[in-house]
Amino acid sequence: MTENKENIIERAEGTVLHTYNRYPLVLERGEGVYLYDTDGKQYLDFAAGIAVQALGYHYPGYDEALKEQVDKLLHTSNLFYNIPAMEAAGKLVKASGMSKVFFTNSGTEAVEGAIKAARKYAWLKDKGNDHEIIAMNHSFHGRSMGALSVTGNKAYQAPFRPLIGGIRFADFNDLESVRAQISDKTCGIILETVQGEGGIYPAAEEFLKGVKALCEEHDILLILDEIQCGMGRTGYMFAWQEYDVKPNIMTCAKALGCGVPVGAFVLDEKAAKASLAPGDHGTTYGGNPFACAAVSKVFDLFEENGIVEHVQEVGAYLTQRLDGLVEKYDFIEARRGKGLIQGLAIQGRPVGDIVVKSQEMGLLVITAGSNVLRLVPPLVIEKKHVDEMMEKLTRALEMQQ
Ligand SMILES: *Cc1c(COP(=O)(O)O)cnc(C)c1O
Repeated sequence: MTENKENIIERAEGTVLHTYNRYPLVLERGEGVYLYDTDGKQYLDFAAGIAVQALGYHYPGYDEALKEQVDKLLHTSNLFYNIPAMEAAGKLVKASGMSKVFFTNSGTEAVEGAIKAARKYAWLKDKGNDHEIIAMNHSFHGRSMGALSVTGNKAYQAPFRPLIGGIRFADFNDLESVRAQISDKTCGIILETVQGEGGIYPAAEEFLKGVKALCEEHDILLILDEIQCGMGRTGYMFAWQEYDVKPNIMTCAKALGCGVPVGAFVLDEKAAKASLAPGDHGTTYGGNPFACAAVSKVFDLFEENGIVEHVQEVGAYLTQRLDGLVEKYDFIEARRGKGLIQGLAIQGRPVGDIVVKSQEMGLLVITAGSNVLRLVPPLVIEKKHVDEMMEKLTRALEMQQ
């Protein structure tokens, strides 16, 4: 029998650094789109490990591919070639129509690499050491020093100054505020195609197209962070494909490995040709055969099973059902999002309270920003799961506070 929950939590708190206020659930196993805790309680998963488990749990074919790679080779380093990395990079290039891939172990590292590539691109032109990057207020790009420096959240940044220099902030979906930050030192503009952590704000089409035009006019690299909104979540393989605004550099992670820790930054031909070269960047683990076998299989399964098309269909249904909630409840101010990345803006009651009550009902949802209920389920959910979520969420919303 599994150790009792209180014991596990107490032991975890005794040894694991307290950087999260965790919910008192110990999740033990998953099956399909459900998770089970150590008490055997079932949860419908509309969090997906923060938009990671796009294929849910034990999707047919996925585990087998990982096991096969475990038996062959886990790791080699980047001093040699390996087949899974070559195959995974090929599939990422094909899906994005971009040019070259650098694999990382996480999202924040993908952002670090993108920042370095943009700096190097500008450095090659004038050998200057004062190049600037424009980032957005309310953005989220990760917790390492470079990624934190472009994360527009003062509370996250405050204890860690000085951050990296040369970062300017503009307002998301406000083209004039971006234009106002451009100087002859600007080497990159970084933004999430759909702001996730900040509260689920999709880029407006005129804004994204306008930023792209500014980048072309001033020879600035456009970096789109698709770590959360990419990999099919919006109903497009990459969220920018809906806007037809191709970045010079794209960052990926989260659902890229569907549970295996892996990220990547992907460069278009222009950025790949004139940026990072041997000696400029590296990683011991990044691109390892095990992680890349996962990435490679994820792309195959997406294609074979029409996952992106499925998101368009089930995402439209989810949208319609959530819009119903906005009409029904005064304290739900708005729905924002696309496909299977959706947020409900809550006013006048704590969103954390709704999350906890949902857990009691057997539903996992998470928050974004200070007042947004975030829904980022596995992409393989069906309409019946949307109905089940609605039923559980409605009960949670109607519980006395
Ligand atoms: C999660 C996230 C990151 C950071 O990824 P980690 O793997 O946690 O380092 C960066 N950008 C966006 C948009 C994210 O959602």
